[in-house]
Amino acid sequence: AGQLMAGKRGLVMGVANNRSIAWGIAKACASQGAEIALTYQGDALKKRVEPLAADLGTKLVLPCDVTDASSIDAVFETLKKEWGELDFLVHAIAFSDKNELDGRYVDTTEKNFTQSMLISCFSFTALAQRAEKLMPNGGSLLTLTYYGAEKVMPHYNVMGVAKAALEASVRYLAADLGRNNIRVNAISAGPIKTLAAAGIADFRYILRWNEYNSALRRNVSIEDVGGAGLYLLSDMSRGVTGEVHHVDSGYHIQGMKNEDAPDI
Ligand code: NAD
Repeated sequence: AGQLMAGKRGLVMGVANNRSIAWGIAKACASQGAEIALTYQGDALKKRVEPLAADLGTKLVLPCDVTDASSIDAVFETLKKEWGELDFLVHAIAFSDKNELDGRYVDTTEKNFTQSMLISCFSFTALAQRAEKLMPNGGSLLTLTYYGAEKVMPHYNVMGVAKAALEASVRYLAADLGRNNIRVNAISAGPIKTLAAAGIADFRYILRWNEYNSALRRNVSIEDVGGAGLYLLSDMSRGVTGEVHHVDSGYHIQGMKNEDAPDI
């Protein structure tokens, strides 16, 4: 126990259920004294998110679909009224049509390309625009990305392109907002079985491949990502911005398969 986040208030977006990466980060921050607001996308998820919010002792559980700018504005208006200022924000949101998380990237459609970019990349910038106004004394913004931004991963396709743009936007946002002491970072998480991951074809194969071929020879948990999120959202990382921090059991450092990896 400790109180690394005492007195800090944060908005965590992207909790769908108790397997969500956003939930791992919310739990880690709350355990260190942070006060947290959650958002949910649509009524179907409201039922899942409300009990989780109760676990955190928060009454701030707000609807938000990032494709609807007025719903983003409504969240920030509520936060301004309830809290006045905001210390941190977590963006753990991504979407692509499932049909395009299979087969070839070259076959991606304009419609799904545009929508994937809007939800998975631009929405972080849209949130930063609003968060900046509530962070007169600085703050920390965090998003989630994946190795498919850097290297071609099977079936990741248009999402890899969106994550590459998201990682670039972390750097541009960090440069713009640094003079206001607002830090902007990303965690590049290893594969975790979540609702979003279930949309990726052959995800079980990817999980096993990462387990056998990472330096730590195991997959990461939402608690592992939560610990790194806590660091990036707390003052412990006060000198860190514009960073893409890998929480992937060291998978990204490997040049080849592990010699001791079993066949899969
Ligand atoms: P998840 O399904 O639990 O979370 C994804 C969230 O995105 C959901 O809460 C969903 O409601 C939200 N979302 C989708 N479209 C939205 C919209 N239009 N408006 C508002 N919210 C919307 O899955 P997760 O794996 O925890 O995903 C969180 C983030 O982590 C995503 O950015 C994902 O790409 C990233 N990530 C996941 C993995 C993995 O293997 N699971 C690895 C690296 C990065």
